[in-house]
Amino acid sequence: MEDQRTDGLSRRRALQRTAALGVGVTIAWAAGTPARAQAKLAKAAVKYVDKGDMPGKDCDDCVHYIAPAKPKAPATCQLVEGPIRPHGHCIAFSPKT
Ligand code: SF4
Repeated sequence: MEDQRTDGLSRRRALQRTAALGVGVTIAWAAGTPARAQAKLAKAAVKYVDKGDMPGKDCDDCVHYIAPAKPKAPATCQLVEGPIRPHGHCIAFSPKT
């Protein structure tokens, strides 16, 4: 598909930026909401995958990763609902410092 340029910005690029902005606002809202009232984000909303393909950007490299309390228990995430995998990935990835 050929990009249609308007004022130097393709429609596809504008839609991508709008979608990214929406996810960013949602994540910012989730991060600023008190824990008791906070609902986690759906995996689909942050494009979570069980196995990422970006070395160094796995869930266990992310500041939001919560390691399992017991060896066979699932890992969890501060932002994303449900169990996650240590080598998963999503667009909310934020590296540990
Ligand atoms: S924010 Fe995303 S990358 Fe980070 S631990 Fe949660 S699911 Fe994994």
